[in-house]
Amino acid sequence: MSVLKVGEDLKSTPKTTPSTPSLIDPFNRHVTYVRISVTDRCDFRCVYCMAENMSFLPKKELLSLEELDRLCSSFVELGVKKLRITGGEPLVRKNILTLFKSLSRHLDSGALEEITVTTNGSQLAKYADELYATGVRRINVSLDTLDNDKFQAITRWGRLPQVLDGIKAAQKAGLKIKINTVALKNFNEDEIPKMMHWAHENGMDYTLIETMPLGDIDGDRTDQYLPLDQVKQSLEQSYTLTPNSFKTGGPARYVDVKETGGQLGFITPLTHNFCESCNRVRVTCTGEMFMCLGQEDNADLRTPMRQSECNEPLIQTIREAIDRKPKGHDFIIERKGAAPAVPRHMSMTGG
Ligand code: SAM
Ligand code: SF4
Repeated sequence: MSVLKVGEDLKSTPKTTPSTPSLIDPFNRHVTYVRISVTDRCDFRCVYCMAENMSFLPKKELLSLEELDRLCSSFVELGVKKLRITGGEPLVRKNILTLFKSLSRHLDSGALEEITVTTNGSQLAKYADELYATGVRRINVSLDTLDNDKFQAITRWGRLPQVLDGIKAAQKAGLKIKINTVALKNFNEDEIPKMMHWAHENGMDYTLIETMPLGDIDGDRTDQYLPLDQVKQSLEQSYTLTPNSFKTGGPARYVDVKETGGQLGFITPLTHNFCESCNRVRVTCTGEMFMCLGQEDNADLRTPMRQSECNEPLIQTIREAIDRKPKGHDFIIERKGAAPAVPRHMSMTGG
């Protein structure tokens, strides 16, 4: 297996034999969206995502940039139209821009419609221009508060000014931004209207996410869980929210906010299960494909890649796994002190 050199273009991925360019699961859902985690590492330690002392994977366990390109390109050949690069923090992976640069050939050919990124924003000042140059047009920035002290408390290691500078740099570079906020009881519920105004005034969409029971953290999730139907009801006391049909390929449902002229999204895996329209799979940084964020069943895509230069075994493994994609998840947060529904962290599977 050849090793990618720093700055080298990733052009020569193995050819697959022609096959039907579509992935359809047993419930007739077309899988056209892949979220791929490129690292389990992060420069933050958000309290709902990671424990403070995390042990990370040794480098040889991770897919190399070359393998990531090969895998993404195989999905594109199978009809995937949208790739989201995530992590951990994707922009802390060494030479990650090489991957974006190389994948941009699928945007140029028209095979791929979009490459997006989910980031904590810490590295955007450094990379925004280059991301735009590789064809990225939209990014999601995760931000749970605009208060310096609270930001430090929730991310443990983060610095708010660095993220705000990153957001400005991304806007200057021409990237469209969606701000994602995990709604947390007794932490940011009072700040949500202010954050929505800030996002909308700055031309950004704003989406709220319910905290999900993924991975062991240093605390109890029942203390954090804030159902979004409750948040929506409270916003409706002061704002006119009109459902719209905006779709990004993700699971958010959107409303127009008359008073701000912006859009507000709700990602509600717990209060409303969105599985019926699920079009996506997730791949970890070690090449495990999870057909459902909330289920344990997965397929090892690294082994067929490392065992053969030919892509056919890889494609076969992907197809067999899509045939097992479950109808839905069964997350629930109710028992105090209960173990997480899924033991792996979000930073492992990617958000
Ligand atoms: N580091 C990047 C970031 O923070 O955007 C990308 C990876 S992060 C795991 C992706 C998203 O998952 C973030 O928006 C984060 O807030 C969210 N997230 C992490 N753990 C979560 C949990 N237990 N429940 C809900 N969202 C979670
Ligand atoms: Fe890092 Fe993102 Fe997890 Fe926060 S949510 S610890 S920024 S991976």
